[in-house]
Amino acid sequence: MKDFTYSRARTSQEALTLVAARANAKFLGGGTNLVDLMRENIEQPDALIDVTRLASGISESPDGGISVGAEVRNSALANHPLVRQRYPMLSQAILFGASGQIRNMATVGGNIMQRTRCYYFYDEAAKCNKRNPGSGCDAIDGFNRIHAILGASEQCIATHPSDMCVALAALDATVRVQGPEGERTIPFNAFHCLPGDTPQVETVLGFHELITSIELSPLPFAKRSLYRKIRDRASYAFALLSIAAALEVENGKIRNARLALGGVAPKPWRAYEAEKVLLGAEVGMNTFRQAADAELSKARGYHHNNFKIELARRTIVSVLRELAQSGGPL
Ligand code: SF4
Repeated sequence: MKDFTYSRARTSQEALTLVAARANAKFLGGGTNLVDLMRENIEQPDALIDVTRLASGISESPDGGISVGAEVRNSALANHPLVRQRYPMLSQAILFGASGQIRNMATVGGNIMQRTRCYYFYDEAAKCNKRNPGSGCDAIDGFNRIHAILGASEQCIATHPSDMCVALAALDATVRVQGPEGERTIPFNAFHCLPGDTPQVETVLGFHELITSIELSPLPFAKRSLYRKIRDRASYAFALLSIAAALEVENGKIRNARLALGGVAPKPWRAYEAEKVLLGAEVGMNTFRQAADAELSKARGYHHNNFKIELARRTIVSVLRELAQSGGPL
């Protein structure tokens, strides 16, 4: 690991001043991914600015939503009574991620910024366009069981690893950031980038911009939501596929629907095509199957991950059915 300096910021302004003083500085949350990357020499910052003491916390917003400071630990967010009551899919998604020890350490801001777990990205001997642009991608013809079926490119087929972010995508969260040019907000679903020809560019965050909070709007029907995760082991494993979903049903018709997928795309994947089919349609298996088919019509496997297409189809239908039945038998 390369030598680096460490400083701790007490305010976001102090963090921005400290990071601006070094050309190759990085903000440090819980370090549960960044420190691993530094050990593997994939990230080599000269300086780390610890932003875990900014103390924004979790509070109710004037509009009835929730504001979550970027420094909030994953376990604190998952267990907060307002989150459990209003956004169960978010609480469940976080509790499905990592281990208890890691959730106690990891921060919300760090979770959003975590990088892919593609094996080749972590292997300095492998070709990887994300780590070394223009070098190639060993995953495309290699072992790609965990890789993407949606949104990938010929340059990169990595998946985004976060569970929490899948729920934030379904909830249409907003990311508040502060940078040298001031403060701005970014819709969560526009925050992460698809790889295209530049897989090394993963977010729209500007140079030295700091995530300060996540804003959740009120979404009353999200009380009827859930997160399902399919993985190779029962715990402490990344998703092969995950689904965050919320459904509002009235008089046998779907009045509102939110659906996002994890483990299948380079970013948390909001299932807009499925939602279009669901909105206004009759509740029932045919509708759920049509929604899944619409979302997966452009899915593509790369050999070892071909199974994910059928797995996604069946799991979307199963999750929607479970949500619909939570209001009574279909
Ligand atoms: Fe690198 Fe992406 Fe290919 Fe993995 S899938 S080796 S991260 S370019």
